[in-house]
This record gives sequence, C-alpha cells and structure tokens, in this order.
Amino acid sequence: MNAHPQFAEALALYAMGALDDHRDLSALEAHLGTCGDCRRELEALRADTALLALSATGPQPPARSRQRLLNAVAAEPRVERRNPERYALGRLRRRWVTIAPVMMMLILAVFSILLWRDLRNARQALRHTHAQLEQIQADLARTNTELAEAKMVRDLLHAPDAWPLTLVSKKTPPQPQIKTVYSKQQGALLLMASNLTPLPEDKIYQLWLLPADGGAPMSAGWFKADSKGNGMMFHKMSAGVIAKGFAVTVENAGGSQTPTMPIVMEPAS
Ligand SMILES: [Zn+2]
Repeated sequence: MNAHPQFAEALALYAMGALDDHRDLSALEAHLGTCGDCRRELEALRADTALLALSATGPQPPARSRQRLLNAVAAEPRVERRNPERYALGRLRRRWVTIAPVMMMLILAVFSILLWRDLRNARQALRHTHAQLEQIQADLARTNTELAEAKMVRDLLHAPDAWPLTLVSKKTPPQPQIKTVYSKQQGALLLMASNLTPLPEDKIYQLWLLPADGGAPMSAGWFKADSKGNGMMFHKMSAGVIAKGFAVTVENAGGSQTPTMPIVMEPAS
C-alpha cells in the first residue's frame, strides 16, 4: 500500500495520462521528485496501464473504447481537496468510492475488447478450417475413387478364376505374344503374355528395358508362364528412364544382372 494515500487517485490518473488538473499535476510532480514510494507506485500503475493498453491494441473498436475510458475518467467528479483536514479519516474510503466505478468500467471494457477480438479471431480461424476441411474431403473422395479402381484392377489380376484369353485370327495358328505398357513418368510396367512356351521349374522369362541413351539393358522384372503359356507381371522401377525398346530372354530362376542370349521375344518391327 502506498505510504501517501492522498496521492493515490492522482497517481492512478497520472499513470493513465488522464490527470488534467494543472494544480494536481504540478503538486504530484513536485511530490514525485522527493518521494521514492510514490515513484515506485507510479511505475507499478504504469506497468498495469501499459498492459491494459497493450491487451486492447487492435483495430478501430479498441481505440474508440480507450477514448471513451479516458473521457469517463476525466468526467468523474473529483474529491474536494482544498480542505485536506476534512478528509483525514475518510480519505481512503472516499477515494476508493470515487475510483472504483472507473476501474470497474476499465476492466469490463478491456474484457469486452478481449472477448470481441477472441470471437473475431475464432470466426476467422473457423472459416479457414472449414475451407481446409472441404479441400481435404474432396482430396479424400478422389483418392478413394482412385484406390477403388486400382483395387479392382489388382483384384481382377490376382483372382483365382482370372481367365486371360487371347483372341486370334481363325486363319493363323496362335503365336506367342507379350503385351507391355510402360510409363517413364510412373516408372511402372505392366506385362501380359500369352501362348508362351512353358519353361522348366528352374527357368524364368526376364524382361529387359533397352535405354534410349544406348546404355546397358536394365532388368524390368521376370515372370513365369502357366501351363497354357499365359503370364502377367507388374513391375516398378526408377522413374525417368526413356526406353527405346524391350526384349525377353530366358534366365535361371531368381533373374540375371545381364541378359543371356538369345533374345526370345522382341517388339514387332
Ligand atoms: Zn509519496
């Protein structure tokens, strides 16, 4: 508690920049020059006021509210101070009664401003979150559709009753055939073979990618043909390799690093 309660109200107004009575102002400043207690009290009040002002810093409404508060403080009736002895006993209580409504208003106004800002920020955040949620839902729906399609293709290829059938001209006998679909961008290859010669247990068919830059043939996976000469393979490799062609060789089970001649299948010229 301040050792000089007669300056309590003036200090509070002074800290808020609302002490507009010149006599009060010069009396207080003269006293502050000699009294450390009141200087410390002023520092504390200024810190409070700065905190309140800082909390209320924002767009237009807070600025208007601050002016309203200062006007209210300035308009508040002052305690008569020409006869100090009259207030020797009742001073504290009277001053508190005088300052209390102003402080209550100040606190209420600051809380309203803080609530108003919180509400505004919450609304903005909610709108933003809502937009993000809609985007995520749209992405999810698209991903689900793509996934369902991919799953259907995979399920068909792996179905125990999957029936690969090659339709050929009635006039020519069935020929061994391999169809490949390659995407450089996806680094993926799909192969479907029909009418191949079935291989012994320890042999496999291996597909080779022939790079367009003339580099060594790269393995593009291997597969076995069933008893009817049909085979399927999906192979994932590094993306970005430009192929000028593909070739198939017969290799030992487990695959080879380099093709073993001869080439048994190659693109029709
Ligand atoms: Zn003092």
